[in-house]
Amino acid sequence: MLSYREALALILVRLGPLPAGTVKLEEAAGRVLAQEIMAASDSPSFDNSAVDGYAVRVADTAGAAETAPVRLRLSGTVAAGAAAVPVLEPGAAIKIMTGARLPRGADAVIMKEFAGEQGRSVLLRRAVHDGENIRRRGAEFRKGQRVLSAGTRINVPAIGLVAAFGQAEVRVFGRPLVSIISTGSELVAPGAPRREGQIYDSNSVALAAACRELGVEVRYCARVADRRSELLKRLRRALHCSDVLLTAGGVSVGDKDLVRECCVELGVEEVFWRVAIKPGKPVYFGIRQTGTGKKTGGDSGGQLKAVFGLPGNPVAALLCFHQLVKPALLKMMGQASRKRPVLSALLVERLSKKAGRLEWVRGVLAAKGGALAVRPVTGQESHMLGGLAQAECLILFPASRVTLEKGSRVQVEILDWRG
Ligand code: AMP
Ligand code: MG
Repeated sequence: MLSYREALALILVRLGPLPAGTVKLEEAAGRVLAQEIMAASDSPSFDNSAVDGYAVRVADTAGAAETAPVRLRLSGTVAAGAAAVPVLEPGAAIKIMTGARLPRGADAVIMKEFAGEQGRSVLLRRAVHDGENIRRRGAEFRKGQRVLSAGTRINVPAIGLVAAFGQAEVRVFGRPLVSIISTGSELVAPGAPRREGQIYDSNSVALAAACRELGVEVRYCARVADRRSELLKRLRRALHCSDVLLTAGGVSVGDKDLVRECCVELGVEEVFWRVAIKPGKPVYFGIRQTGTGKKTGGDSGGQLKAVFGLPGNPVAALLCFHQLVKPALLKMMGQASRKRPVLSALLVERLSKKAGRLEWVRGVLAAKGGALAVRPVTGQESHMLGGLAQAECLILFPASRVTLEKGSRVQVEILDWRG
């Protein structure tokens, strides 16, 4: 059976970034830069004060102390945004606000807290050092320097950073359109009455939420009984209107598991079925390629469709989404490849399993004697969403191992639904 790494590689090799477009900066959070951001100017773009206080010459403050204040002549004021800035003469101080341009002649700013005004003079109760409280032009970025690389996912501070260089729009890669089809004759929509033997369809709702956390649009969502004709109809429709189709359930070995055979009928090439992971073993991945054979092309008109057959068990469906679908969506969104960070933590209880499959044990983190500790949550079975809902991380229980000892160091990945 394929390993997780092999399966992920088979997915990623088939997918590429969607065509780029321009969006307003305020709508760019979570999108991926399709351009480099270069500094349009030095940043800061002029020498300015980091505090509210008085611009001074360092030499004029020598020896100033609480018990021996130094008196300087107050020769002017400069506020943030003022274009005209007075020159600082020896023996004088200029009142200055945070962000205001530094007067010529000044080489430090003393904080207001260490100075007091007396009529037309200022008493300094401290000496200052060269450059104190000055934000120098170009200290963070030089004009023309790269600020952000293409392939970077835009977070909130990155939006501020781009705006700080005067840009109101950015070029970002496109986003895949997704459809979700839950299969199972037992499924009922949450909110509707349910009969004996039926269960609520939690996968549609949770998978749609998982897409939204990534900023991906769910174009089509349906719930289908395990009936071939109906399933075919829904799958055809979903393939038509989206770039990525997620199915849930019906992909295992039961008599009613019809997703794979329907995919064959719809011209979807099976790339793999079954991966050595727990939960999620029956997961399926297929590609349907029509026309030119180029990589995924932008919207529902794209030539390449990716199909993920997720297992029906809700924890398996969500973890397969997290570990296999999400990297695919992020690659289509243009994100440069990035391995999730793996932390080392002390395991607080012994774990055991059979050899052969990589297991993602759901855990919560705590500090223990200055180290990071991890505790498996209760409810580890693949239908127990309560355990996954509590989990902050996944303990990586390697395929080859059968035990992880209490007190040993284990590898842990933070479980973050946004990326
Ligand atoms: P399947 O993969 O179709 O064999 O389903 C495996 C298990 O997951 C069964 O217990 C199903 O009832 C359950 N299941 C399947 N689909 C869903 C769903 N959309 N929401 C909640 N449970 C589901
Ligand atoms: Mg089923």
